[in-house]
Amino acid sequence: MFEIKAKDMRGRVGVLKTKHGDVKTPNLMPVIHPRKQTINVKDCGADIVITNAYLIYKDEDLSKKALDVGLHELINFDGPIMTDSGSFQLSVYGDVEIGNKEVIEFQEAIGTDIGTSLDIPTGPYVDREKAEEDLEITIERAKEAISFVKDNDYEMKINSVVQGSTYPDLREYCATELTKLDADLYPIGAVVPLMEMYHYRDLVDAVMHSVKCLPDSKARHLMGAGHPMIFALCVAMGCDLFDSAAYILYAEGDRFLTTRGTIKLENMTEMPCSCEVCCKYTPDDLRAMPKEERVKLIAQHNLHVSFAELRLIRQAIAEGSLMELVEERCRAHPMLLDALRHLGEYSEDLEKYDPRSKKSAFFYTGPESLKRAEVTRHLKQLENMDKKKNLVVLPAYRKPYSKYLSNSFKEFLVYAKDESKGEDEPCIIDNKETDFAVLDIPFCLIPLELDEVYPLSQSDAPKIHDKIAVEFVRDFLVDFAENYDNVLIHPKVLDELELDFIEEYEHPEEIKFEKDDIKKLKAIADYQFGHGAGDALFTGKIKIEKSKKTGKIRHVFDKNQNIVNMRASDSFLILSKLGAKRLATLDGMRNKVMIDNSVESFARDGKSVFAKFIIDCDENIRSNDEVLIVNEEGELLAFGKALLNHKEMLDFKTGQAIKTRKGFKK
Ligand SMILES: [Zn+2]
Repeated sequence: MFEIKAKDMRGRVGVLKTKHGDVKTPNLMPVIHPRKQTINVKDCGADIVITNAYLIYKDEDLSKKALDVGLHELINFDGPIMTDSGSFQLSVYGDVEIGNKEVIEFQEAIGTDIGTSLDIPTGPYVDREKAEEDLEITIERAKEAISFVKDNDYEMKINSVVQGSTYPDLREYCATELTKLDADLYPIGAVVPLMEMYHYRDLVDAVMHSVKCLPDSKARHLMGAGHPMIFALCVAMGCDLFDSAAYILYAEGDRFLTTRGTIKLENMTEMPCSCEVCCKYTPDDLRAMPKEERVKLIAQHNLHVSFAELRLIRQAIAEGSLMELVEERCRAHPMLLDALRHLGEYSEDLEKYDPRSKKSAFFYTGPESLKRAEVTRHLKQLENMDKKKNLVVLPAYRKPYSKYLSNSFKEFLVYAKDESKGEDEPCIIDNKETDFAVLDIPFCLIPLELDEVYPLSQSDAPKIHDKIAVEFVRDFLVDFAENYDNVLIHPKVLDELELDFIEEYEHPEEIKFEKDDIKKLKAIADYQFGHGAGDALFTGKIKIEKSKKTGKIRHVFDKNQNIVNMRASDSFLILSKLGAKRLATLDGMRNKVMIDNSVESFARDGKSVFAKFIIDCDENIRSNDEVLIVNEEGELLAFGKALLNHKEMLDFKTGQAIKTRKGFKK
């Protein structure tokens, strides 16, 4: 019932399918009070809502009406409706007058689209014993609910809520157990107190440890999260749905939600946005109004900013600028900045979900950007790269660096990597035995062959460097220098990084980077497809065609047969038939997706591959990667563009996984 359309970090634009229509995600479900609702949330932009089945159940009139005419008519909403089970009431009032099975039966009977079992929301920071006890009951009830729904062939979809308080391992355990049950959606519960206390850092742990163990093919709902200030951060961690009573609760307290925080009407001299309400009224108008009328208007504003933020987030995912938005939003509150900094600890996990190439450029917005997935990935690839004997480090200048490279250098200093070496052993640099790289913030070193590849060329950072970034780059360089016999550093770089040197290099004018298109192609291929890909792809009589306008490589041939094309926007290589065949000679599952032999002929005909037929897949595959499609014997059938990463490919049972470019007919 869930499909992914676009991705950035763990964030995804998706479609949630229900019997009352499709919902675009990430999205917000306004909480509807079955009796007190005065706002028409559909007019404010709601596509899906949530209401409380328990409140309806225990109210005799409401319950009778809901059973008679159905939930949709009862709350006057014709789109998808999710219902909560009374767990919240359980947490506040101790006990509820309904059992797990009854609450499930009732939700189906009133026509809910997505129902919830009666879990136990364990608050943050409780004793471990209590958290474990509650968790066992939650998991037991989820099991009971799901088998009940399946046995009775219910139309309703079912939620299983991840609990576990603030114990990361319990969140993981719960998510793992619930995943086995194959629920339709996975809410992450009992995080409201964390948000109320501004403990966003612990929220990051609760969410990240939950999503890590949840299936990628199901939508996740962060329960009770309704403040637009945190939407971007939570979407980047993989949350697809939010629900909000905040819009009305805040309005009742004369408080306006904004992406920068909350503003009280009493302190307001200006209206905070450009929604209908803010354009039509002044703060004085509102203050003079009867309370009931005012609450309605503030609630409308609150919903407006929430939906506007979600549109912005979906746009950011589509263009690949979600992290820039998260970094901006997390500067609204010091505790959010803590959360962002803490999210950096999860960079390796996030990297697995982050597409290698995006439409928008990478912006460095502060030291937090050093922990971004793109940086983590690049540094790992530098470590894995084949290295020559010497390294020459150049200062950053105009991009792309190799195009504006100066022909000779006046001065180089020999970096004092190994102090015992001293001056008696003269350093001699042979250009052929040398790697050339430009110092960069935040990517540390950009090898000149890779200077046009995304995001190394498509990135920007302030020219005034911060101390943390300089230290980060210096630490990396000091470690990286260990891979080389000699390291020559341009004085500008040495100055900036405050490194020690042994002596001046005697013949700086002899240091030259020789541009070599084949070397460049091989380096890009290795960077994109892994070690050895360059040698596999570019053999024979290589002919290169360049763009007349930009001088960039466009097409590469062996004699007259096209091997690859280079995409102008990110300099990644797009395979042709010959390229695919050559890349397929690399060992093991590298760059490969194995599909069921029953659909072999579809792939050979060039038809797209559906996720449910995927048996195995290289764990290095990210969405948008060029991939090879093979059968169970490992024979190459076709090649195309991945729409999902390797984990998602193996997890999804519906939807497309690879957009096939071409097949090899038998
Ligand atoms: Zn407004």
